[in-house]
Amino acid sequence: MIARLILVNAIILSACAAAAEEPFCANDHFAIDAQHDSGDLDKCKFKADNTVELTFRREDNKVDGAFSWFSFRITAEETRDIRIKLRFPDAYARYWPKISKDGRTWTRADDDVVKRSWIGKSMKLAVTVDESGTWVSAQELITQTFYDQWLEELASHEEIRTSVIGKSVQNRPIHLVRTANKPEVVVLLGRQHPAEVPGALAMREFVDVLLGDTELAREFRERFTLLIVPLVNPDGVANGHSRHNAGRVDLNRDWGPFTQPETQSVARLMAGVDELGMKPRLMLDFHATKMTPTMVFYTQVPEDNTNPPQFATSWMTAVGKRISDYEFTHDPRSPSGLDNTKNYFFSRYGIPAITYEIGDEADRDKVRKYTPVFAEEMMRIMLQAGPPET
Ligand SMILES: [Zn+2]
Repeated sequence: MIARLILVNAIILSACAAAAEEPFCANDHFAIDAQHDSGDLDKCKFKADNTVELTFRREDNKVDGAFSWFSFRITAEETRDIRIKLRFPDAYARYWPKISKDGRTWTRADDDVVKRSWIGKSMKLAVTVDESGTWVSAQELITQTFYDQWLEELASHEEIRTSVIGKSVQNRPIHLVRTANKPEVVVLLGRQHPAEVPGALAMREFVDVLLGDTELAREFRERFTLLIVPLVNPDGVANGHSRHNAGRVDLNRDWGPFTQPETQSVARLMAGVDELGMKPRLMLDFHATKMTPTMVFYTQVPEDNTNPPQFATSWMTAVGKRISDYEFTHDPRSPSGLDNTKNYFFSRYGIPAITYEIGDEADRDKVRKYTPVFAEEMMRIMLQAGPPET
């Protein structure tokens, strides 16, 4: 009898989840849902009129170093305060909540409305909501819509071609943005890790400078082809994953094995580059991390002899000369043995292959302000580089 009751409940629950207009849960005053792109909420329980407990589970049981993404929306029948306990039973609370009234403009929740427990398995948040709704999310929502709008803007740029280089596990397109064919190639990858939104924000700023109408950018594009894959893991982003794709794989550990359609798409793209005799010269892979409050760049160590030689040191030094009030970290590391993008591109092509990391909670205005400096100095130094090895 108990089993039967549970089954009936399960059917009712799944029926509710399927109806788009139904909230995930509600009481007399509040309704909570998470049906948007990147939405993530697993359990919801009202404890009192103005108190709710929300549970977030990791995306699958293979994800390691688990930390939890969360993203939901609350509406109230009239302006009211709600206290929310966010629970992460199999993860920890890496992200400080971001709040939005429209799903587009976000602010970091004030220090005095958030409490994190010392073991980081839960977090408390107090917010005021009204009938227009409030979004609460681990990071700003940068979803497929953002990329679609960006691709649409780029379509009017006469030098740029966009195409689909493959499909994800759940059949979402993997988009490529490219400039005209030149003998040398610079590769930029983004969003292998879906939760790493600050990396996506920086990548957008960075790419906009490379595609800009400045003398430096035009000269750069005369010599180098840009191959840009801004959203390598569209399923992870759509489903509100922290790290994996829909195949339960960390795509940044699949460079070599190539077991997933997303990494296979980029590998096919690079095979095409090789076939045409074009030479990759630099790879930048955009991520975010809890390890820094600003930015950190994981590069090859000087003894690893990339070509162009000592690119990373020259780049970091040049940027450092222009930015005196913002500390960022250059962290050179020997190949680690992990099947990540950095190791793959370095070992395959001998080029500088750099993980470009933005701090989870980095000041967004400063990221926006300083990213163009990184883009400009990258172009300048690449333009000084000698020809590729043949
Ligand atoms: Zn990452």
